[in-house]
Amino acid sequence: MTELASSSRPLVASLDQVPVQDMALFLDLDGTLVEIAATPKAVVVPDDLVADLSAASKALGGALAIVSGRDLAEVDRLLAPLCLPAAGEHGAVIRLPNGKRDDVEAKVPDDWLAALFQLQQARPGVMIERKAHSVVAHFRNVPLEEELVRRTATEIVARDPEHFEILHGKMVIEILPRNVSKGHAVQRFMRFAPFRGRIPVFVGDDVTDEDGFEAAVEFGGVGLHVAESFGGQPQEVRRWLKRLAQG
Ligand SMILES: [Mg+2]
Repeated sequence: MTELASSSRPLVASLDQVPVQDMALFLDLDGTLVEIAATPKAVVVPDDLVADLSAASKALGGALAIVSGRDLAEVDRLLAPLCLPAAGEHGAVIRLPNGKRDDVEAKVPDDWLAALFQLQQARPGVMIERKAHSVVAHFRNVPLEEELVRRTATEIVARDPEHFEILHGKMVIEILPRNVSKGHAVQRFMRFAPFRGRIPVFVGDDVTDEDGFEAAVEFGGVGLHVAESFGGQPQEVRRWLKRLAQG
């Protein structure tokens, strides 16, 4: 993860140089705002988080978006009753500030899903999570199965590499439509008010957030890695968010 320091070298020297009214904030969810759990369903949303996100969004004039690998519906479920601008599935689905949705067309084919669910059945502990456009194979609870999961996913994507690709995350492998990334999500949001013209700050914890960091830097902003800027602690990100919300 240390290479992130160079890839996300900020054009702004420190966050203190970015007044809240000039900031556009992009936040990953798992491992950034909430602690990673054994399974995606098992995450716990701390009591204050929804209120703090809501207050931070107001302080930022609405220029706050969640940019997650989760299904958009899952993001909304976790943060209910909040309904923020958000990107789900790493940007395959984007809800713009005006509420309009922007979805990629491609969906992982049914026979690929069937092959992956077969793997789940054959190797207890491997967990397949189906999303609207993509699919995730989790091996957090069975690290020894990593090689098999990787090989299977690679073979599957080889059937249509023009339209799909593999994304390697923390103890997960995802198959998702090509050209979808958190960076594209940031670029998309930055074309719309209230994000447009602001200085983007992207906070994330995983390799899949690197594209988001790079896009933030392209717009003169900064990428903050949870490991480097918040001691690897989502609770420190939440503390920072609370301070931001209070102005
Ligand atoms: Mg994350």
